Amino acid sequence: MSEKNFNAFEMAQAQFDKVAEILNLDDSTRELLRSPLREYHFSIPVKMDDGTMKVFKGFRIQHNDSRGPGKGGIRFHPQETVDTVRALAMWMTWKTSVVDIPLGGSKGGVICDPHNLSAREQEQICRGFIRQIAKDVGPLRDVPAPDIMTNPQHMLWMLDEYETIFGAKYPGFITGKPVSIGGSLGRTEATGYGVIYTVRESLKQMGIKPENTTAAVQGFGNVAQYAIELYQQLGGKVVCVSSWDQSEQKSFTFRKKDGIDLKFLMSITDRFGGINKQKAIDGGYEVLPGDEWIKQPVDILLPCALENQVTGETAKFIQGTVKIIAEGANGPTTPEADKIIEEKGIFMIPDFLANAGGVTCSYFEQVQSNMNYYWEKDEVLSKLDTKMTSAFLSVSELAKKKKLYMRDAAYVISINRVAQSCKDRGWV
Ligand code: GLU
Repeated sequence: MSEKNFNAFEMAQAQFDKVAEILNLDDSTRELLRSPLREYHFSIPVKMDDGTMKVFKGFRIQHNDSRGPGKGGIRFHPQETVDTVRALAMWMTWKTSVVDIPLGGSKGGVICDPHNLSAREQEQICRGFIRQIAKDVGPLRDVPAPDIMTNPQHMLWMLDEYETIFGAKYPGFITGKPVSIGGSLGRTEATGYGVIYTVRESLKQMGIKPENTTAAVQGFGNVAQYAIELYQQLGGKVVCVSSWDQSEQKSFTFRKKDGIDLKFLMSITDRFGGINKQKAIDGGYEVLPGDEWIKQPVDILLPCALENQVTGETAKFIQGTVKIIAEGANGPTTPEADKIIEEKGIFMIPDFLANAGGVTCSYFEQVQSNMNYYWEKDEVLSKLDTKMTSAFLSVSELAKKKKLYMRDAAYVISINRVAQSCKDRGWV
């Protein structure tokens, strides 16, 4: 499925270089923005449950903080690489910029597989991560959040370690906290809902009613589940989802042509988004190969899994019915696939715009934590909708006006803002 020799950082740089040309950026701004400002690579020794010691590799990469403290999640993944974290940090800079929140871009990662770690071992990784990086992050420097295979519990362990080191309460140090301890209502839903706010606006512009559309989804984690929830509430029909099968080490597509039952699928899914194959078959789902989701004759494709999933090879299978691709995942589409999608005339809602709902709600969480006063869920979600919709409209207007591919239009807005703040600060 994925492109061989894929390097996410090279891809992020290629996307940046293309737009740097369009913007005619000067050399020093290009040099500054195409690499991270700072990188931390460290080892996290952990005493495992069986008494042995294991050393995990961790990274925190701060791409740019000219618009405010760095912001971005920490991923746990067995295939994590430093170049993936570099790319994701850079995409965070563009993400916070496109929704115009006063934050920069960072990302963290640990090479580990939580499927095979006990809760205590995961807690030790979280605390060890913070011990290595505590002095270089913080509410006014760099603020972490959850991402792939990390959740509110991991954030709370990290916060607790940070507060233990510095001897005071710093609820603004981390976002995605449990709602009972300083988290924001709506944060869990925010990324998936945000994706659908942008889809809703695109359909509106096309004059298509959501209830007359169908979608295929890749992935069944936090982002996918809430995207499906809101899309179904708008009346849309999801015909399939794909999910990773840990025991077989490959993914499968679960199809029900008359529409999947979200509640049922969630009831047979583990905490990493893995759907139980046998129970799905018993529930009347067709189980197809993992990349079948992209070949479905639907109106909307929602890649909500990992990077490097829509490639030059698989994009060829996208059906003529597809009008919109909204990237719930970070970096799912390779530049080669982008070319094919652009040629097909499909409306692309790029990752750092489509999935910016998560970080936007993280910003709201920080604001609430700093005030020590929390909003009702409706208030959070309505503020989120306003922010996402206005960012979407700015990008789509520019795309129309300058006849740009949506990804390039989003980049033009983001890079312009970051370049300007670097200039204003006298960095370039
Ligand atoms: N990890 C999420 C992302 O990639 C959210 C980051 C955040 O909330 O800071 O956008």
